[in-house]
Amino acid sequence: STINLMGSRFVDTIPSLSCDDDKSDDEYAFVRALRMSGGDGANSYSANSLLQRRVLSMARPVLVRNTEDMMMNLDFPGYIKVAELGCSSGQNSFVAISEIINTVNLLCQQLNKNPPEIDCCLNDLPENDFNTTFKFVPFFNNELMITNKSSCFVYGAPGSFYARLFSRNSLHFVHSCYALHFLSKVPEKHVNDKGSVYITSSSPQSTYKAYLNQFQKDFTLFLRLRSEEIVSNGRMVLTFIGRNTLNSDPLYRDCCHFWTLLSKSLRDLVFEGHVSESKLDEFNMPFYDPNEQELEEVIRNEGSFEINDLEKHVFDLGLSNNNNEEDDYEAGYNEANCIRAVTEPMLVAHFGEDIIDILFDRYAHHVANHASCRNKTSVTLVVSLTKK
Ligand code: SAH
Repeated sequence: STINLMGSRFVDTIPSLSCDDDKSDDEYAFVRALRMSGGDGANSYSANSLLQRRVLSMARPVLVRNTEDMMMNLDFPGYIKVAELGCSSGQNSFVAISEIINTVNLLCQQLNKNPPEIDCCLNDLPENDFNTTFKFVPFFNNELMITNKSSCFVYGAPGSFYARLFSRNSLHFVHSCYALHFLSKVPEKHVNDKGSVYITSSSPQSTYKAYLNQFQKDFTLFLRLRSEEIVSNGRMVLTFIGRNTLNSDPLYRDCCHFWTLLSKSLRDLVFEGHVSESKLDEFNMPFYDPNEQELEEVIRNEGSFEINDLEKHVFDLGLSNNNNEEDDYEAGYNEANCIRAVTEPMLVAHFGEDIIDILFDRYAHHVANHASCRNKTSVTLVVSLTKK
């Protein structure tokens, strides 16, 4: 029996944290397990997120410019509150925040202004391993002290960014990297895609429409909520996994796209009898990779923000190709570990733990076999916005 510690019925209601009565939520229960692998072990996100750090550095010029403009437009406030949304666990949580704080302090020094006091709120879903992140706070503040004689106050803000997270008119700067392509749920698909976890070149148009529609709903809601929380002339810099518009077919994905390779690896497991076909058909990624037009359209239609920058960075993942087979396998295992760190909790929730090692072994082999792939690119979209 539960002891009612708080003199309320709160304790009794803890087991059913979900307040959704939506049928599709039960159907796709694994979405509730969405989070990156915690800790700092070999399979953790913390140890397998160098690619994301490379992406963070691409957004650096936009981040610096918008931080400076924010300070000047707001006329050097004595206090600012910054939020990192979808911070995940480990050191990546601090990369952009450090950049923002250093920029603010450098600008204040150059213009002979008093530096503001800074609150930094780190947000992610409640199941995120915040402890691994928080352990870095002393190092982070130490670095700030050494480089700029500055520091900040760090807070955790657990919750979905598809809900309100901060009080009204309280935020000056919001940053998010590689998080907003996660949808709040798997879209209801008109025709189920067999044997694939995401849109593929052979999906029906209705699959694309369903994913796009869910992205539009989620991102519109995100903008509306942030517009309530951000002060007028406050700014946001958001970085997405995007897709190329060069190919006008919205279903087109590279043959070595990470979800295509994950689908292939899962189909290997179906073939080998580790996973049933229907189990695979029920698993779809709560993910969408918009192109520039789709992103821009949502921002304009929602209407609370002005677009300052919308940049596309295409980087050739094939560039790191190696000359010998052994290196190909190593590259395969590295990519497999990256995808594992991002998907393991959801995969375990749906398929169980037993398949994970075999699955990513197959995945690594598929990457290695695609090592000579010419068109292996990754598209990153960076958008910066000002609250009207
Ligand atoms: N920004 C980090 C982490 C990217 S991984 C980096 O650049 O390395 C994406 C993170 O977004 C994950 O930690 C995931 O848990 C989080 N996330 C996904 N959906 C979310 C939501 N609705 N609300 C808050 N965080 C979310």
